[in-house]
Amino acid sequence: MPKTIQGRFSFLVIGKGLMGSAAARYLSAHSPDVALIGPDEPVDYARHDGVFSSHYDEGRITQRLARDMVWSQLAERAIGQYPLLEAASGLLFHTPCGVLTVTHAPGESRYVGQRGEIAAALKAAYEIYPDAAAIRQAHPLFQFTGQAQGSFEPAPAGYINPRTMIRAQLHLARQQGATIVNDEVIQLCRATDHVTVTTRNGQTYQAEKVLLAAGAFVNGYHLLTRPLVVRVKSETIILARLAAADIARLSQMPALIYEIPSPVLADIYLLPPIPYPDGHTYLKMGCNTASDQTLSDMEAMRHWMIQGDSDPHKAEMQAALSNLIPTLRPLSWQTKRCLVTYTAHGKPYIDQLDDHVFVAAGGNGTSAKSADTSGYLGAQLLLEQPWPAPFERATFQAVIRSED
Ligand SMILES: Cc1cc2nc3c(=O)[nH]c(=O)nc-3n(C[C@H](O)[C@H](O)[C@H](O)COP(=O)(O)OP(=O)(O)OC[C@H]3O[C@@H](n4cnc5c(N)ncnc54)[C@H](O)[C@@H]3O)c2cc1C
Repeated sequence: MPKTIQGRFSFLVIGKGLMGSAAARYLSAHSPDVALIGPDEPVDYARHDGVFSSHYDEGRITQRLARDMVWSQLAERAIGQYPLLEAASGLLFHTPCGVLTVTHAPGESRYVGQRGEIAAALKAAYEIYPDAAAIRQAHPLFQFTGQAQGSFEPAPAGYINPRTMIRAQLHLARQQGATIVNDEVIQLCRATDHVTVTTRNGQTYQAEKVLLAAGAFVNGYHLLTRPLVVRVKSETIILARLAAADIARLSQMPALIYEIPSPVLADIYLLPPIPYPDGHTYLKMGCNTASDQTLSDMEAMRHWMIQGDSDPHKAEMQAALSNLIPTLRPLSWQTKRCLVTYTAHGKPYIDQLDDHVFVAAGGNGTSAKSADTSGYLGAQLLLEQPWPAPFERATFQAVIRSED
């Protein structure tokens, strides 16, 4: 028996994450019939048998002076939207506490190389600290030794709460008439003039155009006729639960990016004290570790998120944070797991894949800050609007996996 179609839409977004929720907001500003399908955050990971995301947290660093000019331009536009989003939704997700970046090897740094050029182009202010003593004078809380050099980007750099930002995007999309469905898409059937979308709950929807914004699960459920070239990596964070005295003492600290010299840790990022939904306040530090794994399929990703071992470098992560802030006296430590999705060229894929299917995915571990722009660019494609300057469409071209 043919299934009942639950809804027919001009535009349907798959994935209620940072990029998908932004795309739904932009699309619904132009069209009365937009749907967004994606699951809510699982309450109990162990009992969750579906997809996960990269945004289940309370803090993501944001800065205009990002890794290179493209990332900075993506961030620049997105950061410009934060006040509008906050005002229109009434939900505050942006804390402009500034970002300190420190490296021991400026020649190899991801951040130092083009910084002056980017700052000039964006008219963004920043301070330079030529050595550890200068960093210490400006930010006495932190302890850096040796050949450390640093820079500080003031507000609006700081951090965003990704969960609240998504809530803000969804609130506005809903207000603009978008239909938001808590479900997972498991099948796409292409017809001449539309796509039929089937969900895990057995519902079907039709749409003229579909935007796949499924993050790490962009190749999950084989929704695409040919998979995209992505590498999904396990990512570990450590949370230090703070006592009231540390919360007060650290309340003015900036976010930190630290290119740590270490045999097992790399690319540290540290957030100021943030209250979490469990009622406690934590310092969150994340980094790449020598035990990170490439997760080659959906089962590997799910296994990592549900029961992966995130403790192999817990001791080194604790030591790194304790060395950075020697006065820190956490009440407890815990590690958590996350997923990072790398694309072939290191920028998000924002592209048209066939007549009706489009993609906005591939955060490369750094897309929370700029997800609003990724959603905007994806929406522009579906709306057949001209590709907006200063972005080059080729920069975001999806790379399709070749036939084996
Ligand atoms: C630990 C960690 C720290 C990070 N720190 C920073 C930072 O400091 N600054 C920064 O800018 N970025 C940071 N990032 C990166 C940033 O969080 C990601 O780049 C961003 O979340 C990517 O957004 P997305 O919309 O592509 O994916 P997600 O936010 O993961 O959203 C994808 C959504 O798609 C849904 N989905 C998947 N499959 C389906 C399906 N079949 N049907 C329906 N829905 C589906 C998922 O449920 C999910 O909600 C960090 C990432 C991690 C893991």
